[in-house]
Amino acid sequence: MGGVTGQASVRQGDDREADLGGPLAAARHQLRHTIGLLGLGDEVYQLLKSPVRFVEVTFPVRMDDGTTRVFTGYRSQHNDALGPFKGGIRFHPAVTPDEVKALSIWMTMKCSLLGLPYGGGKGGVVCDPKQLSTREIEAVSRGYVRALAEVLGPDLDIPAPDVYTNEQVMAWMVDEFSRLRGRNVPGVMTGKPMGFGGSHGRTEATGLGCVFTVIEAAERLGIDLKGATAAIQGFGNAGSYAARFLHQAGVRVVAVSDSRGGVWNPDGLDPEEVLRHKKAEGSVIAHPGRIISNEELLELEVDILIPAALEDQIHAGNASRIAARIVAEAANGPTTPEADEVMADRGIFVIPDILASAGGVTVSYFEWVQNLTSLYWTPEEVRDRLGRMMRQAFAEVYDLHRERGVTMRDAAYMVAVRRVAEAMRVRGWLGE
Ligand code: GLU
Repeated sequence: MGGVTGQASVRQGDDREADLGGPLAAARHQLRHTIGLLGLGDEVYQLLKSPVRFVEVTFPVRMDDGTTRVFTGYRSQHNDALGPFKGGIRFHPAVTPDEVKALSIWMTMKCSLLGLPYGGGKGGVVCDPKQLSTREIEAVSRGYVRALAEVLGPDLDIPAPDVYTNEQVMAWMVDEFSRLRGRNVPGVMTGKPMGFGGSHGRTEATGLGCVFTVIEAAERLGIDLKGATAAIQGFGNAGSYAARFLHQAGVRVVAVSDSRGGVWNPDGLDPEEVLRHKKAEGSVIAHPGRIISNEELLELEVDILIPAALEDQIHAGNASRIAARIVAEAANGPTTPEADEVMADRGIFVIPDILASAGGVTVSYFEWVQNLTSLYWTPEEVRDRLGRMMRQAFAEVYDLHRERGVTMRDAAYMVAVRRVAEAMRVRGWLGE
């Protein structure tokens, strides 16, 4: 059951922009298309197509060899109609302003869809953490916060981990921010370590949230997860936990990959074993099995495909060869608009990123609430609430997808944009 065949032809006339490629064009294309579906005015698009504030900083870092290197960082504060800006910070050599802006648009949509009292933001530092020592990564983390402290805060903008950042990076950043303010401010970042204001269940939240949505999708599509097969692109925080939770649900995880390539075994892989090999040898390809490329992994014939790496992985060039029944986007923006249309026409059930990857920011919200109230929750409370919120968001999107005959992505954006537009309207940012 695809339920989406033919719906991709419901499009507005912004394909020129999307055709230029890149995440920002893709994000804008989806916004314009959704605003058309909702019958909202152009001022909504004008307000959402760019961040309300975009900050670029450069800061010096003393390297281990005694030299000073100057790093570039960004923070995109997209929209705060629903609450303070919220979203991760990535450390990656290919970070660009347009990428960070797109990622911040997606955060606004993700927070709105899950009903969180947040707007969207995103940050990045252009660096390759694999080439930096631990001390240098600490210095980059502290330098970034010093440069941006004026625009961060628990009721202003609350960063979190993203690609190649983790709880240790958050701890250094909170420590730096607290020093600058002269008091403890744990609620300025989420994704902190346990024992330093962190929440139970935050580390695994993106992977678990994704698997919650897969369970909902499988139930509605009549797919028995026991014995179903899955391939997962990316074995970082999102992908490795998605693999483990799918395995626990009885799914046969037949292929996983990281930036160096993938490993495939039709009899199934044990994600814990794969993780041990990755930790010991630096890559999943150290695990015994047939080595495949990331491109090959995406085209495997499986029930569930989880892109859990970077943007633009499923594109016009490979969309016609995607052979999965369900694509659950644990990464942000893994599918281009062109590919989306091809997959919709082929009846592939896509659980869009703003839904499938929303578990992380949802538990970030729980962490922030715990920081603000100084009352800490049990692992069961976190898991139960996450499950409830993911299921509710899924049901809302799925019902709209069926009612209106639009794709799951269009339905998710319709829910998200409607809420943001309503908040902007009551605030007086829009006309009557
Ligand atoms: N970086 C994650 C995301 O893209 C988490 C953001 C957060 O927790 O604020 O959703």
